[in-house]
Amino acid sequence: RAKDDGRNLIRFFSAAMQAVVAARAELELKLRAALAGNGFRLYYQPQLDRSGRVIGAEALIRCFDADGTMISPAAFIPLAEETGLIVPIGEWVLETACAQLRAWQREPATAGLTLSINVSARQFHQPDFVGKVAAAIERSRIRAGGLKIELTESVVLGDIETTVLRMRQIKALGVRFALDDFGTGYSSLSYLKRLPFDQLKIDQVFVRDMEKDTSSEAIVRAILAISRSLDLEVVAEGVETAAQHELLLTRGCELFQGYLFGRPVPIEDWKLERPPS
Ligand code: C2E
Ligand code: MG
Ligand code: MG
Ligand code: MG
Repeated sequence: RAKDDGRNLIRFFSAAMQAVVAARAELELKLRAALAGNGFRLYYQPQLDRSGRVIGAEALIRCFDADGTMISPAAFIPLAEETGLIVPIGEWVLETACAQLRAWQREPATAGLTLSINVSARQFHQPDFVGKVAAAIERSRIRAGGLKIELTESVVLGDIETTVLRMRQIKALGVRFALDDFGTGYSSLSYLKRLPFDQLKIDQVFVRDMEKDTSSEAIVRAILAISRSLDLEVVAEGVETAAQHELLLTRGCELFQGYLFGRPVPIEDWKLERPPS
């Protein structure tokens, strides 16, 4: 009865495929609805220096559907990239972050804070991306030195010359760059040397396993050494425990971000002062 089995298998697979296609279509509709109807929010996660002072934040997007359910970026950014919706979504992020940075820069207590935004490779390589950044800076009247753009290594999978040129054009506006999720991608150290990054972010997988896994600890130490020799600032992502923080401090890490210091929160809940830990 091999023939029947085969037919059943095909039926099973096509039903599963249909479910996948339907779920993607539904998510795409939700993203379009969120774009049209104020469904996106930026959450802000603090970044601290070695003395424990909050020096800035990373803006992380959240999507809320019609009944208020939150959709995490891990669930929708890949689809947004495939469909091209990342372009209008990314523009909204840029505009919203610049407005928030402007509000901080107007108040003496928060004037020195930096704000990092995540930019997808597809958004970065849009022909008018440099113009969009320049326009957002001008409209919001921010000091551009407070704005940081986080890219992942996937940004250079295309042409490195184009990437370097574009980064230089944006840096000429005063904006700085961070290389996100460092250590998880494919780019070589020679790439890293050619790309004008200001900051490296140690991926949270290494921070998480640092204490129990000697190879992660060695990777963290190597990243700290690389960043020193290339004169890059370094941020540890995903710091959750005091022990991780201690170890990173001992190893010379400069900046810290993670649940230990604060989760990403909507701006209404943002506080400059951290409770003593
Ligand atoms: P990412 O840029 O590497 O952001 C760090 C992620 O780690 C965030 O997840 C953050 O909430 C989470 N995180 C921070 N501290 C801790 C910690 O101590 N423990 C753990 N387990 N996680 C921690 P989130 O907000 O879900 O964002 C996931 C990814 O989605 C981001 O990774 C980024 O790649 C992407 N993303 C977020 N916002 C945007 C955006 O506005 N535009 C684009 N293109 N991508 C975005
Ligand atoms: Mg990031
Ligand atoms: Mg990261
Ligand atoms: Mg990430």
